[in-house]
Amino acid sequence: MKKIFLLLAAAGLWLSLGAAFAQGKGVERLYILNCGEGVAGDISRWSPGVNVGKSMDFVDTCYLIKHASGWFLWDTGIPDAVAAMPNGLAPADPRMTHWRRPKTLAAQLAELGVKPGDVKGMAVSHTHPDHIGNVEQFPQAMLYVQKAEYEWPGANNAPRFKPEHPVTKLEGDRDLFGDGSLTLVSTPGHTPGHQSLLVRLPKTGTVLLSGDAVHFRANWENRRVPSANTGQEETKKSMEKMAGILAKEHAQLWINHDKAQRDTLKLAPEFYD
Ligand SMILES: [Zn+2]
Repeated sequence: MKKIFLLLAAAGLWLSLGAAFAQGKGVERLYILNCGEGVAGDISRWSPGVNVGKSMDFVDTCYLIKHASGWFLWDTGIPDAVAAMPNGLAPADPRMTHWRRPKTLAAQLAELGVKPGDVKGMAVSHTHPDHIGNVEQFPQAMLYVQKAEYEWPGANNAPRFKPEHPVTKLEGDRDLFGDGSLTLVSTPGHTPGHQSLLVRLPKTGTVLLSGDAVHFRANWENRRVPSANTGQEETKKSMEKMAGILAKEHAQLWINHDKAQRDTLKLAPEFYD
């Protein structure tokens, strides 16, 4: 009798563990963080021949994702040090973006009760300074980056990342946790190893985070390619790949720098689940 009871208890425990594991899979929530605000001096740098000489407000966005297996950060924004600069970070070329940092990344994580050491994994869309500004706040976090981006020589052949930072170099798409909830999508063209991130949320549905594969809605709709992109045709191919994914997955496209769109979305501490 006692034996049967123990067996039943063991079976019950096994069932409840099974249920917990099933619930624990996948992405649980996503926070949108303010990783910079700026003004682009001449928007035609991003849309050749269109809106020449006109300025445009930009935002810079990071995304903190709670996966069942730990915290994951997508893009890191303008360096937190810019928050202390009264006039922000003025570009050398006035046609480019003058960035400010109204709130640090560190402060936004602290507000959510997330310590830098809690971030187990991170990925950046590409290595422009407004995306990698705070990578080294998370020296322990595994960095997922395309090999083509990692090995793209920087100014004076400088490496793009600290060589001691733990890294997984990718060649193409990667389902990060093997459960389909976070998939890095190779979208080269803006830079040689640019990538985007597909996130499957339980209630919100599927969202494709653009990185700089596109900078704002009008460029997406008209498939316009910024003149400074490293691959013009590659960028167009990447946009078609993204359009295919959006259609197949019935996904939303969230464009990193698009202020008009971001103003319609919930910012941390609110979240998407
Ligand atoms: Zn960029």
